[in-house]
Amino acid sequence: MSSLQDQLRGLVYSTEHGETCPDCRQPAAQCQCAEQAEQARLAELDGIVRIRRETSGRKGKGVTTIGGVALPETELKTLAKALKKRCGTGGAVKEGVIEIQGDHRETLKAELEARGYTVKLAGG
Ligand SMILES: [Zn+2]
Repeated sequence: MSSLQDQLRGLVYSTEHGETCPDCRQPAAQCQCAEQAEQARLAELDGIVRIRRETSGRKGKGVTTIGGVALPETELKTLAKALKKRCGTGGAVKEGVIEIQGDHRETLKAELEARGYTVKLAGG
């Protein structure tokens, strides 16, 4: 028979193995923390897509970043894929921001506006 201490240790153990979520303590299958984090990110957006060129600490032409797109992560990746193809370059999605390699601000602005987004060119 196990002591209360052992039982508590067992709970922590199962949490570490991903059976329950450490944040909400729900079973992993019922955990909605990731969805809630995404909802929170989407709720902060103002409906304006911001395109920015970033060169600091990067080689060559840097990257064009696209922030503020109100899409869940999976759809954001689909959009990024289409934009990369449109520009004929590479890129990535990082924390809700699409990065496209090189300076493609005008192309991306036109493409996103054609898709119905309100777009602003921000920064340098
Ligand atoms: Zn959770």
